[in-house]
Amino acid sequence: MDPREHWIEGELEELRQGHRFRRAAAPPSGLLNFSSNDYLALARHPAVIAAAERALHAAGAGATASRLVSGTTAWHEALETRLARLKGYPAALLFGSGYLANLGILGALVGRDDQVLADRLVHASLMDAAVLSRAELLRFRHNDAQHLDELLQKNSGGRRRLVVTESLFSMDGDLAPLPELAAVAERHGALLLVDEAHATGVFGSGGSGLVRAHGLESAVNLSMGTVSKALGGYGGFVACSEALRALLVNRARAFIYTTAPPPAAVGAALGALELLEQNPGWGAELLRRAAVFRAALCAAGLDVMQSASQIIPIQVGANARALELAEKLRAAGLLVIAIRPPTVPEGTARLRLSVTLAHSEDDLARAVEILQRVCRA
Ligand SMILES: *Cc1c(COP(=O)(O)O)cnc(C)c1O
Repeated sequence: MDPREHWIEGELEELRQGHRFRRAAAPPSGLLNFSSNDYLALARHPAVIAAAERALHAAGAGATASRLVSGTTAWHEALETRLARLKGYPAALLFGSGYLANLGILGALVGRDDQVLADRLVHASLMDAAVLSRAELLRFRHNDAQHLDELLQKNSGGRRRLVVTESLFSMDGDLAPLPELAAVAERHGALLLVDEAHATGVFGSGGSGLVRAHGLESAVNLSMGTVSKALGGYGGFVACSEALRALLVNRARAFIYTTAPPPAAVGAALGALELLEQNPGWGAELLRRAAVFRAALCAAGLDVMQSASQIIPIQVGANARALELAEKLRAAGLLVIAIRPPTVPEGTARLRLSVTLAHSEDDLARAVEILQRVCRA
């Protein structure tokens, strides 16, 4: 072994010992998939694939440059217009991914003399973005607007303050109290960013998300989302005012210093948005099926935590136990992933199930039967 890499085996062994070791392997085929974020089953929709093909043939395999150089195409502009309309904002800006969007936004808006106030359970991309921004990071208790209020009261220093939360939490499936959080942020003059990665396409009329469902477009400065979940493709974005968009175009390093998203991805997103507009009831139908599934899991004696969405965790606790259950579920025909720290807090390992429109009523009934048998054994 190369002597410079000697330390690596020790680190890997530590991960294995803590049942935290992970691999990026293709899952076996033929399993009933409960780990996909393709909530509306759009990734393989013929109309989405056709839209991707049109853009691919018209504009090429790659964007060939960053957005500020010559990478912007009419497709990119059309997608941003469409995303702004979906979200009910004056403007939108497309990024390479949701991760890059969060990195770009926070880096552009806050710096050394500023503060970020984040819900304790926000996604790793928001945590990384906060750390990289060099702003002071304060974390408020999960979904606790009162605690946010206290933190803003106590820490009134700082040049600029930015509150960040998700509207639908990715590992818990619960919803943020957006009206309360928005009122607190507004009262303290703090900017508010809401990450709608999992709510976009699912919640709100026509899949516009929870910010719009609550009529909070003017109270939430930045409504961030991704094309990579319910829209079935790839790419991140933020809906905001024209002024904020112009600032991000000029300051967001994760927007400026990377190649523009490839035309095929942009075309696919446009195709997905077109379908969403033609089928405004899809999100509501998904949530209806998820509610039935959740009720059946509860009736089977499983702890689904605070889930109120298509994301349904089953509380387990220990890493080893979560892994063992995921393995047994796999043997029984279900693809369910064990979610462990650091993705979730220590001691809260869980199975994370997501319901999608690809699941039939029969699939869901079968899954309840298997989950009950395996998890309660
Ligand atoms: C998935 C996710 C992201 C990142 O989006 P990508 O497009 O996959 O990079 C950001 N925030 C939340 C809450 C997410 O779940």
